[in-house]
Amino acid sequence: MGEDDKTEFKNKIVIAIDGFSSTGKSTIAKLLAKQLNYIYVDTGAMYRAVTYFALDHSLIGEDFFHSQQLIEKLDNVNITFKFNEELGFAEVYLNGQNIEKAIRTLEVSRYVSLVSTISEVRQKLVEQQQIMGKNKGIVMDGRDIGTVVFPDAELKVFMTASAETRAKRRYKELLERGHSLSYNEVLENVTTRDRIDSTREDSPLLKAKDAIEIDNSDLTIESQVETLLKLAKTIA
Ligand code: C5P
Repeated sequence: MGEDDKTEFKNKIVIAIDGFSSTGKSTIAKLLAKQLNYIYVDTGAMYRAVTYFALDHSLIGEDFFHSQQLIEKLDNVNITFKFNEELGFAEVYLNGQNIEKAIRTLEVSRYVSLVSTISEVRQKLVEQQQIMGKNKGIVMDGRDIGTVVFPDAELKVFMTASAETRAKRRYKELLERGHSLSYNEVLENVTTRDRIDSTREDSPLLKAKDAIEIDNSDLTIESQVETLLKLAKTIA
């Protein structure tokens, strides 16, 4: 798909993409947003930013989590996005500092699901996400977008793939970024996060009743984007 064949629809809609870790949600969401000329918001980056803040302030670690202190400090957590022309997507900033790369480490991945169980954290981020989507024309990916953030989203997608497929993808991605770690560490992280995300009390990862489920274990990125563009076209 070239730059020139951007798809313009009459009405702007909200596209909610939820699903398990490393199902390629953000890759698809980014391409879809570009094609539609929509804003793309990676809500996982926002939970990762809070986790980065907690690690930076020694509020979470191997055998401790000072969740109450994190809640008290939440007013000092200012998350923003700034579009990077070169990369073609918006990078995440914490209190003015670009942390796009710093939040993609296995260390942040290890603690992010725990931080994401805290209702006060969710409340703050969901509020911000709802403001970002109030004018529609947005593709947002996460775990609770179709269920909690935008229950009235016009198009909801729920992505799945086997844990092994997902861990392989994430492992390859991390190796390419120069991280040194084992496949088993990545597989463990992916399955642990799925378990915590699916069983937490506040806004667990669930397929919304009206979401379209896509198992993309054997699908190419292009075919998924095509499918979703067609679906969006029937709605917008
Ligand atoms: O999407 P990503 O894998 O970067 O998300 C990191 C973590 O952030 C998830 O495993 C989940 O714990 C949390 N998250 C969430 N709700 C969202 C997006 C992400 O709880 N909407």
